[in-house]
Amino acid sequence: MEIVEGRSIFAGVVIAEPYIEIKNRQVLESYTLSREEIETEIKRVINAIESSKADIIKLKNNLRGKVGADELQILNVHLMLLDDPMYISDIKKSIQKELLNAEVVIQKVSDRYIKMFENIADPIYKQRALDIKDITQRVISKLLDKDNTIADLNNKILITKELFPSELLKLHYSGINLKGIIMEYMGETSHIAILAKALEIPTFMGGKNLLSISWGKEVILDTTSITGRVLINPNEKNLIEYKQKKEKYYLKLKEIEQNVDKEPITLDGKYINLYANIGGTLNIDESKRKNLMGIGLLRTELIYMDSSGFPTEDFQTQLYEKIAKDFGKDKPIIIRTLDIGADKKLPYYEMRDEENPSLGCRGIRFTLEHKEIFKPQLKAILRASKESDIKIMYPMVTTLHEIIEAKKLIEECKIELKNENKEFRDKIEIGMMVEVPSNIILADIFAEYVDFFSIGTNDLTQYILATDRYSSVAEKLYDSFEPAVLRAIYEVAKAGDRKKKKVSVCGEMAGEELGAIALLALGIKDMSMVSAYIPSIKNLIRKIDTRELVSIREKILNSSNSKEVKEILTKYLNQIENR
Ligand code: PEP
Ligand code: MG
Repeated sequence: MEIVEGRSIFAGVVIAEPYIEIKNRQVLESYTLSREEIETEIKRVINAIESSKADIIKLKNNLRGKVGADELQILNVHLMLLDDPMYISDIKKSIQKELLNAEVVIQKVSDRYIKMFENIADPIYKQRALDIKDITQRVISKLLDKDNTIADLNNKILITKELFPSELLKLHYSGINLKGIIMEYMGETSHIAILAKALEIPTFMGGKNLLSISWGKEVILDTTSITGRVLINPNEKNLIEYKQKKEKYYLKLKEIEQNVDKEPITLDGKYINLYANIGGTLNIDESKRKNLMGIGLLRTELIYMDSSGFPTEDFQTQLYEKIAKDFGKDKPIIIRTLDIGADKKLPYYEMRDEENPSLGCRGIRFTLEHKEIFKPQLKAILRASKESDIKIMYPMVTTLHEIIEAKKLIEECKIELKNENKEFRDKIEIGMMVEVPSNIILADIFAEYVDFFSIGTNDLTQYILATDRYSSVAEKLYDSFEPAVLRAIYEVAKAGDRKKKKVSVCGEMAGEELGAIALLALGIKDMSMVSAYIPSIKNLIRKIDTRELVSIREKILNSSNSKEVKEILTKYLNQIENR
C-alpha cells in the first residue's frame, strides 16, 4: 500500500477502480505549404475555430439549468479566448511566415501563450494556461476531424496529470458518473476546482508524479480533511477502515445538514462566532448569505486582481457598500486592506524584484510605501462604512510604527473626505492580522493600538517555523499544529483577554475540525473560514464542552510535535463524535 498526499478540493470518501488517463500529446504531422495554399490553410483554422465555438455553445445550452451560472461562465471564457484577435492573428501570421500546416502552428502559438502564463506565479494566470490548453486541444481535434471519444469512466476514479473544464463538463453531460478525480495539477481557485465542487465530485489536487505510480485495481480517495489522501493498492484492513469511514462520513453530512440553522453554541453554553472568509466570488447566493453571521476576512486583493487597473475610490466604495447591503448592514464585515506581494501579484503592476519576496515588500509594507494606492482604498472603506458595521484590518503588520502610520493616514483620509463633502464613518474599528512573530512578542502592546486581532495562521505558521508556505522543499515543516504555532496563538488569545480586545482566527486552520478544537482549547471564540466549512464546524461546536478542553490545552501546548498534537485532538474528536 502506498499513500499520496495532496490538497482536497471537494470532500468525500471513495473506494473505486482507478482510470489512469495518460494524455500523450498528439504527435502532429508537420508539412510545408506552398504560398498558394496559405489562404486555404487560414480558412481551415477559421472553420475549426468557428466549429469549436459552435460546440461550446451547444454544450452550454445543454448544461443550462444543470450547472450554475458560474460554471457556465467558464465556457464563456473559452469562447472569449477563441475570439481573441491577437491569438488568431498570431496563428495567421505564423502560417504565412513559417509555411507550416495549421495543426502544428496552432500548437506552437498556443505553447508560447501557455508558457508565458505558466511562468506567472499567480493562480489566475496558471488557470489561463489551462484554458488555452483546453481550447487548443479542441481546435486541433477539429482540424484532424477527431472527435475525442469519451473514456469509460463510469463509476471510476480518474487519475490524470490535468483535466480540462470542458472535458469534465462533457463527461457530466454524457451522464457519466465519475466517482472521484485525482490530479497532479494544483489550483484551488481554478476553473476545474470550481467545476468539481459544483458537480460535487470528490477531488484531489497536487499529487506528485501520479502517472509513474503503478495503480492497482482499487483506490481509496479520502478528501475529508484539507490534506487529501490517496491509498494505492489498499489492503483488506485499509478497505474495512475506509468503508467504515465512508459510512460515518455520509451519516455525519446528514447530521450537519440537519443542524445547519442551529446556533454555534457549545454544550456548556458558550457562543462561538463563525464568520466567512470572502475572496474571489463576492456573489454568495442569498440563501447561504442569510445564514452567515458576517465576514471575518474580505481579501480585497482579489478585487484588485480581477480588475484591469487599480480600482478607483468610487468603484470600491460602491462595491463595499453592495457587499454590506447584501450581507445585512448590521453584520460585521472586516475589510482587509490590499495584501499583495509574495505570491499575490497584480497583472497591471510590476512588483519590485526581490530575492525573497515573502520577507519583502508585501501587505502593509507595500501600501504604506504607496500611499497613492492605499488612500483610495482607505477612503472607500471609510465611505462605505457610514451606515454599516465595516471594520478595517491591516495585513502583514510587523512593527507598531506601521500601525501608527496607517492610523495617521486614516485621519488624513478623513480630512480629505470632509473637504470633498463626502460622508463617512468617523469611528471605525481598526484591527490587524497577526501573521508575524513580532506580533506575538509584542501582543500586549499591539493590543493597545488596535481594536481587534485576527490571527492569520497560514502566514503565521510559515513565519514562526521559517518555512516557505509555497515551497515544495520545505513543505514538510509547514504545519499549523506545531506546538510553537499553538503557543503563539495562545499568547495572543491571552493578551487579547487581558486588554479586552477581540481575537479571531481567519487562517485555514479554523475550517478544519482538529484546528477548530485546538483553537477553542486555546481560548479563541471567533473564527472565520471559507463559508462551505461553517456548517461542519458549527456541528462540531455543538458537541464540545469547553470545560473538557482545559486538559486538551495543557496537553497540546506541551506536546513535542504536530503529530502528537493531532493525535490528542483526534482522540477528543472521536470521543465527542457520537454526542
Ligand atoms: C493567513 O495568512 O492566515 C491569511 C488568512 O491570509 P492569506 O491566506 O490571505 O495570506
Ligand atoms: Mg496572510
